Amino acid sequence: MSEELRKKAAEMLLNGATLLSEPCPYCNGVRVMKEGQALCTKCGRTPEKRKIVTEENEEKNEKPLNKILEKKLEALSKELEQEMDHDKQQSILKSINLLLEMIEKVKKQ
Ligand SMILES: [Zn+2]
Repeated sequence: MSEELRKKAAEMLLNGATLLSEPCPYCNGVRVMKEGQALCTKCGRTPEKRKIVTEENEEKNEKPLNKILEKKLEALSKELEQEMDHDKQQSILKSINLLLEMIEKVKKQ
């Protein structure tokens, strides 16, 4: 990694860039991405735009499901707060656990 690239990558990360899980298609180096711009920290190349657009679209598609899950979680929390029956509390807690697992999975995708 050249000094200039290292500086640029560090600067991007400080400004909210994320590390890409997919390695650079040219050299398998680690890439950072910010605002649709991916930079390889090893060779300094930016991969073709088409690929980045696809990644962004996938991210957008994930959001509605996440929103639904989070709304459900909110509703369940309120339900739990008002529920006095212990058996029902247990089943609400189980549902909350499942929801949290789902949210984790969606975020990791
Ligand atoms: Zn590279």
